[in-house]
Amino acid sequence: MSKPRILTGDTPTGKLHLGHYVGSVENRVAMQDAYDCYFIIANKHAFTTRADKPGEIRQSVIDIATDYLACGIDPAKSTMFIQSEVPAIDELTFFFAILIPFNRVMRNPTLTQEIKDKDLGDKYPFGFPMYAVGQCADILAFRPELVPVGEDQIPHLELTREVARKFNQLYCGVNSKTDDKDNIKAGGLFPIIAPKLGRIKRLVGIGPPGADGNLLKMSKSLNNAIFLSDTAAEVEKKIKGMYTDPNRLRVTDPGETDPAKNPLWAFHETFNTDTAWIDDHREQYKNGKVGDVVIKRKLMDVINELIEPIRTKRKHFEDRPDDVIDALRVGTKKANVIAEETLALTKKAMKQDYFSRELKIER
Ligand code: ATP
Ligand code: MG
Repeated sequence: MSKPRILTGDTPTGKLHLGHYVGSVENRVAMQDAYDCYFIIANKHAFTTRADKPGEIRQSVIDIATDYLACGIDPAKSTMFIQSEVPAIDELTFFFAILIPFNRVMRNPTLTQEIKDKDLGDKYPFGFPMYAVGQCADILAFRPELVPVGEDQIPHLELTREVARKFNQLYCGVNSKTDDKDNIKAGGLFPIIAPKLGRIKRLVGIGPPGADGNLLKMSKSLNNAIFLSDTAAEVEKKIKGMYTDPNRLRVTDPGETDPAKNPLWAFHETFNTDTAWIDDHREQYKNGKVGDVVIKRKLMDVINELIEPIRTKRKHFEDRPDDVIDALRVGTKKANVIAEETLALTKKAMKQDYFSRELKIER
């Protein structure tokens, strides 16, 4: 019996960080046995914000694949692949772009937030909003059952659901009143996919807060991340300089300080498994009995303990770049089989199935 399929992935705009780990990667590693997993490295999407840095994007593709292997993603079980080497995804992107109104794409709150956070102003290329449509194709090309992601991806998944419904209704004769879960049974090609959120839906960055005073999400592009590849000394330096809520000094005045808002505590709650330590020290911190230094020191130990085995495994693969490329090539070959099949079914449903074709990936 074939296993249910999962699709998820990352944009190669840097290396993987702690947010990826708790938001998605942890889930992926845990699901590799029960699911047929596809992990996309979305290199075309990286070009939408950094077209002038092709070398960095190339390096980041390798870095992310190395991070996957270091975190325990096993290429014998899971398929990791490069988006730009799966042409069916692009072909689906055009068909899907036809199904969504332009204004609907621009209302996607994740795009709006990214434009703000990454300071893109009104200078972003046409390809930037296009990536939201492309992401529908990244996902639907694999007709997966589940998509494990962080919270920021929910709007993208909602768009994907809308595209799938529209396609099924327009080209597969599915009634618009059909329940999402019954779309395939009713003859639809595309499943209406549910997101699967990680243990932590949105890990904040190490600061500083954004213009509105709120902490930004930990992001590769925002210079606020602790990377899975950081050395112990780098981790210590970052935590030492980590933003903490300045109001913590006014703890005598209840209501003035919300320690939960302090990223230090968000990190402890996410990574420190010693809950008794957290409860005890949070109380002391609230009452001004311990300061940032003690809490930060402990956090350094906790994070370094988590990252150390990843670091060791990463070193192994850094020394064997051919193994990383091999895993990507084998995965890309496999990904093309499914994506080509989906594209053929798509064209058939759209009555544009004139010829059959075969795609070959070679070294
Ligand atoms: P960029 O800054 O280039 O957008 P990113 O750090 O946001 O990079 P992505 O490649 O966009 O990373 O996201 C990959 C996956 O990791 C997505 O599923 C996303 O939801 C999840 N993710 C990213 N950052 C976080 C975070 N801080 N907390 C939880 N999940 C996250
Ligand atoms: Mg992102």
